[in-house]
Amino acid sequence: MLSVSGTLFGRRPPHPTETKRHPTDRRNLAGQRAPVSLQSTVPCHHRYHTRGPSAAPDVHGPSSLSGPGHPPGSLVPGETLNKIPLALGMTPRVYGYLLEHIREPQVLRQLREATAAISGAHMQVTPEQGALLGLLVEVIGARRVVEVGVFTGYSSCAMAMALPPDGQLVALDRDERPLELARRFWQLAGVADKVELRVGPALQSLEQLLERDGLGSYDMAFIDADKRSYDQYYELSLKLVRPGGLIAIDNTLFYGRVAEPKASDKAAIALHQLNVKLLDDQRVSISMIPIGDGMTLCRRR
Ligand code: SAH
Ligand code: CA
Repeated sequence: MLSVSGTLFGRRPPHPTETKRHPTDRRNLAGQRAPVSLQSTVPCHHRYHTRGPSAAPDVHGPSSLSGPGHPPGSLVPGETLNKIPLALGMTPRVYGYLLEHIREPQVLRQLREATAAISGAHMQVTPEQGALLGLLVEVIGARRVVEVGVFTGYSSCAMAMALPPDGQLVALDRDERPLELARRFWQLAGVADKVELRVGPALQSLEQLLERDGLGSYDMAFIDADKRSYDQYYELSLKLVRPGGLIAIDNTLFYGRVAEPKASDKAAIALHQLNVKLLDDQRVSISMIPIGDGMTLCRRR
């Protein structure tokens, strides 16, 4: 039953920028405190977990996953990593496969692990979203990016790492507490010089950037803060981003709640209304991507 990563699917040679895993590190798809349905249905060789670099090698069989010997620093996707993709209907097996075949730099893995214990950890973009955001920065040759909603810095790191050395990411958030980790990891990732942090209400900061930097002065915006203000973030981003630039909007599927929002679910209603608006918005070309919690890409025409 137990399968060491690599024997199941066959591994390609590691890319130099990829996370280094301990040779005995197994990637698992469920484990301690995972939802029962996951624990009981997922074969152990499809389970996924990652561990901090200081964790002892895991030489135990699958039973150790639900026991007290579960290594410290482990991330159990059933509760932190794949909650959203699973909520949106991806099977554990396929999501486990996906996680095994994306590149997540070690520093980002460490940031994910450092965030796991913090309240609100579910707000962090998923590893495959981080990879996509970085790729998008590269694809459009972005030099200036604005991020609305930083939290502990995963998405900002992923984008800033993909920027050229003289690139700049303006990071907006109003909550100082998670920003302590963000600052630390911008340093660790070697991108601190590229990041300008503005602490305060994002709408106000966006207005200030518009005034300071002018229309069309950014190549890309990533929107991931207060859902009820998304429409305003979007309108301001449309002014800040140049024609041909990109606006990525996170959580546009909102745990599936946009499909049938309850009257009291203000955030889901706001997101649904934005999704409807984008459908007819001829100022942009769009693609709604079922990645993470849904991410809509808008290219300004
Ligand atoms: N992109 C981040 C997750 C962002 S979570 C990541 O991948 O890790 C949402 C963040 O938006 C929180 O940190 C919250 O403090 C911030 N936020 C919410 N409302 C805001 C507002 N009105 N102004 C500025 N920041 C806000
Ligand atoms: Ca988000």
